[in-house]
Formats: sequence, structure tokens, C-alpha cells
Amino acid sequence: LVVPDNPIVPIIYGDGIGKDVAPVAQKVLDAAAEATGRDISWMRVYAGESARDKYGENLPDDTVEALREFRTSIKGPLTTPVGSGFRSLNVALRKKLDLYTNMRPTYYLEGVPSPVKAPEEMDMVNFRENTEDVYAGIEWEAGTDEVEQVREFVEDEMGFDSTIHDGPVGIGVKPVTEFGTKRLVRQAIEYAIENDRDSVTLVHKGNIMKFTEGAFRDWGYELAEEEFPEETIDEDTLWEEYDGEAPEGKVVVKDRIADNMLQQLLTRTGDYDVLAMPNLNGDYLSDAAGAQIGGLGIAPGANLGDGRVLAEPVHGSAPKHAGKDKANPSAMILSGRILLEQLGWDDAADLVHDAVEQQISSKRVTYDLERQVEGGEKLAASEYAEEIVENIHDLA
Ligand code: NAD
Repeated sequence: LVVPDNPIVPIIYGDGIGKDVAPVAQKVLDAAAEATGRDISWMRVYAGESARDKYGENLPDDTVEALREFRTSIKGPLTTPVGSGFRSLNVALRKKLDLYTNMRPTYYLEGVPSPVKAPEEMDMVNFRENTEDVYAGIEWEAGTDEVEQVREFVEDEMGFDSTIHDGPVGIGVKPVTEFGTKRLVRQAIEYAIENDRDSVTLVHKGNIMKFTEGAFRDWGYELAEEEFPEETIDEDTLWEEYDGEAPEGKVVVKDRIADNMLQQLLTRTGDYDVLAMPNLNGDYLSDAAGAQIGGLGIAPGANLGDGRVLAEPVHGSAPKHAGKDKANPSAMILSGRILLEQLGWDDAADLVHDAVEQQISSKRVTYDLERQVEGGEKLAASEYAEEIVENIHDLA
């Protein structure tokens, strides 16, 4: 992306705690921009509850158009009712803007409470496919005509004894395409090259699901070989020809079975760098990784398309904490850090990172961290963010 020093950046505050964390995060990002000689022109746009109040609809066309036009944007969480009501606005946004990757960096911030022994080894960036897999939502309820049409086939394939298994069956479909896989893996490899990362790991369950997850693995390696022959090396060649020592500047492309990968996340965290995963693996793995380095209050993310970014924290709208000025704004602030990186403002992004880390180290934190940190002091979200702004002024 080529951006001016005063870009227009659309922002959706979102529902629930979004209204607590988004405005204070905005102040932190403004401070970092100003400290590095720039200026963000925010364009407030609406989705969810506030859009219903203002325009009578959940996701106005004007909002989608703003995100499409201005390319680099940020949002707070949006509530999705379970089981009834409208479908997820997050999913709708990702589809309308073709944001096919969910990117979640997981890195340790000094002072953050962690359940694992060596959290400081964690420095991974997870690329999760956002549009396919069992999350495509192609499924049929037990008893429907569609299920009855294939029921006999399914039962035969599974070796059902219909005298025992005579109850209802629900059926879902798991589409994984070459196109969807390759564009995800391309983004992960490009990121690894641009950010001097050592490896990209394809995380799959191809031993069991050969034509979906196994194909994901094969297409991933194929893409690396076809499009990045100079910049990448696969793990087999690395051992056969280089005794496991990667030649200078080459990104190693490897693969791991998903269950093993979840285990390695705990035992050999430092061996992993950039991960590329189908939707479901990515969902589980990035939450498990996030929990090791401070949890939801801290975990940032972004949805990426071709030349388009919509940054957003991993957490939801946490309705029971909404409007209390208590939710941790770090996840929103650090999602803003991704936005600054995507604008090419690495110095401003680094300032945000350092200022948040300094604040957490001071143990003057929001309620979620305070109860886990020994000697912690509880601050309101707005106080916490104000102190981060002061840290930025001191660090700049
Ligand atoms: P949630 O992330 O909103 O909250 C789960 C719990 O995590 C909270 O009760 C709270 O204890 C803690 N938490 C979350 N964010 C925190 C923060 N910033 N600071 C401190 N503690 C925090 O998950 P949920 O309760 O499953 O979902 C609530 C709503 O959010 C649902 O409607 C769901 O669909 C939606 N949601 C939206 C997004 C999104 O917009 N991208 C993501 C996840 C969930």
C-alpha cells in the first residue's frame, strides 16, 4: 500500500466493550502518529447496534463502501446473536470485502501473566484461512430432505449398523479449494519474506482428511515452489542438502499435523514463526497461542485481502462488561499497531508496542491482568490508555 502522511482511516467502534476500548485506542494511535510526524484522519462509520439506531440496518452500504475505498481500517467487536436473529456481521464484512485471511500475531509482552514456562519464546504470526473449510456454513439439519438423500450413502461409508444407529444425523461439507489455499499461503510467505521470518509452517490434518487438509498441504508446497523458488526451501531439501541449516535469506517451508502442532506450541514454541492454516485449525490454534501470552484482553488481529486491511481485536463484545470503562483496550490498541505497520509506519507501530509493554511492566493495568499479576494495581480502561499515551510521549 502507498499511503500519504494523513490517510483517511475508517473506524467502527462496534458493540458492547467496543465502545469502551475503541475511542481510547484511537487516542493512543493518534499519539503515536503525531510523535512520528503524521496525522490520521479518522472516518467514523457504523455497524451493529449503533448502525441500527442511526440507519435502521446492521451493516449500511456506506460503511462497506468506506472500508472498500479507504483500504486500511479498524473495527471493534460486533455482537452476533446465537441460534437466531441475523447472521454474523463479521462474516458478512469479510465476505463483502473479500478479506480472505485472518492474521493474528502472538508475541510475548514483558510482564504479561502466562500459564507456560517460557512465554518469551512465543513470537508467531498465524495466517488463518477465512472463507472456506467447515466454516463455510454448508450444513443440513437432521431430518431434512437433503440429509435423507445422502443418509444411506453416509451410513454405508461409515459402516453404520442401522439397528443401533437409528437416530438423527446432521451433515456438513468441508470445502477446501486450490485457489483459497494458494492465496492464503502466498500471503503468509510474502509476510515471512518481508519481515525476515525464518519459516512458514503449513498446519493440517492431512493424515485423516486427505482430499481437503492433505490437499491444503500439497497446494501450499506447490505454491512455494512455483512462485517463490528463490526465496523458499522446503524442509526435506533443507535436511537432504543443507544438513538442517537454512541458507542465508531463505524461508523454510515445512508442515505439521495439527494435533502435534498444538502440543509443540507448548513444548517447542521457539521453533515456529509464521503458520498458515485452514479455517478450523487456525481458529483453535490461534486461541490456544493467544492464551499463552495474556489472553483475550491483549490479543490483536487483522483481516487481510488483496491490498486491503481491516484490523480488529480477537475478543468479542463481552456484553457483561460493556459501558463500564473496565475492559482491557490493549487488544484494540495492538490491532491498531498492525494498522500502523500496514500503513508502512513501522516507527509509530514500534512506539505503540513499547508503550503498551512499558505500561504492563508497571503493573498498573486493567482488571483482567490486575488479578493475575502480583502487586498489580487496577486502572479503568481510559486511565490505562492515558498512561500509554504518556509513555509514548516519554519514549518518542
Ligand atoms: P468475548 O470475547 O466477548 O468475551 C469473553 C470473555 O472474555 C468476557 O466475558 C471477558 O471476561 C473476557 N474479555 C474479552 N475481551 C476482553 C477485554 N478486552 N478485556 C478484558 N476481558 C475481556 O466472547 P463471547 O462472550 O463469546 O462473545 C460475546 C459477543 O461477541 C458474541 O455476540 C460474539 O458473537 C461476539 N464476538 C465478536 C467478535 C468480533 O467482532 N470479531 C469476536 C468474537 C465474539
